[in-house]
Amino acid sequence: MSLLVVGSLAIDTIETPFGRVENVLGGSSTYISIAASYFIKPIRLVGVVGSDFSKEYINILEDREIDLEGMQVIPGGKTFRWGGRYHYDLNVRDTLYTDLNVFQHFNPVIPKSYKKTTYVCLGNIDPVLQHRVLEQIEKPRLVVGDTMNFWIKGKNAELRKTLKLLDVLILNESEAREITDEPNLIKAGKAVRELGPRIVVIKKGEHGALLFTPSTIFSAPAFPLENIYDPTGAGDTFAGGFIGWIAKTNDISDANLKRAVIYGSTMASFCVEKFSLDRFKNLTILEIHDRFHSFRELSHFEEDFLDNGK
Ligand code: AMP
Repeated sequence: MSLLVVGSLAIDTIETPFGRVENVLGGSSTYISIAASYFIKPIRLVGVVGSDFSKEYINILEDREIDLEGMQVIPGGKTFRWGGRYHYDLNVRDTLYTDLNVFQHFNPVIPKSYKKTTYVCLGNIDPVLQHRVLEQIEKPRLVVGDTMNFWIKGKNAELRKTLKLLDVLILNESEAREITDEPNLIKAGKAVRELGPRIVVIKKGEHGALLFTPSTIFSAPAFPLENIYDPTGAGDTFAGGFIGWIAKTNDISDANLKRAVIYGSTMASFCVEKFSLDRFKNLTILEIHDRFHSFRELSHFEEDFLDNGK
């Protein structure tokens, strides 16, 4: 099995009530790849950076054995830079700046060695580019895509075309409501499925996630954390854990999709415990499995029949 990841590569500056980090590695493809790397190899990354993308960032990706043949480096160009500030309510974030730089003219070119890839995860990029990626590769077993309000508003028709090519769409609750014009999340999830993807995951931040398949709806909690330092990338990390688990097991049954949602939530819960990608520096497989198992305890309860003769 193999996984192709396409998305942004960024240099972030992040402020939260608990601290500030400057010029740290970010971007959707980074978070997706690093989370998925705990489950599957090879991971093939396609993205674009400038010549300011230092060896320090490359080392973080290479330490997780991510294949960077598809990473375009534009000589003399500047990498995409993003700045964000979180409020005390960490659900509220102000974008301080978005300097697209080389990302503005990103044209994903899929290297020959990537064309036959079993699983694909399309990070949040222009739906036209997502489409272009799929045109360049042999039909994969499963295509997972992400999107955001920006494309729902700005490129609605193009997004709808791309949705027809996705097997799984992962989006957050406000995006699900916006794309379907439906306030009720259960109705919205079903309506998103009618736009193309047969599997839909709606992320609800600290309230967990909902999975919609042709035959079931599954509701997963989020891990109850007391110390959240930086929510940046949690959604992408969820997607990485989700697709990583599916690629590892090569199983798209409902039972396994539910496990994938829990692995996605598990990886996202680690991501927010430290700034940027720091938590992944020494995260172990044992810690991942431990937390996966504690998810079961979170919503497991015994029935107690009050009227069974007691
Ligand atoms: P999230 O917290 O899931 O929104 O992901 C945050 C990451 O997405 C940061 O590392 C940013 O560098 C990156 N990002 C922010 N805005 C964009 C954008 N318009 N397109 C692609 N990536 C972005």
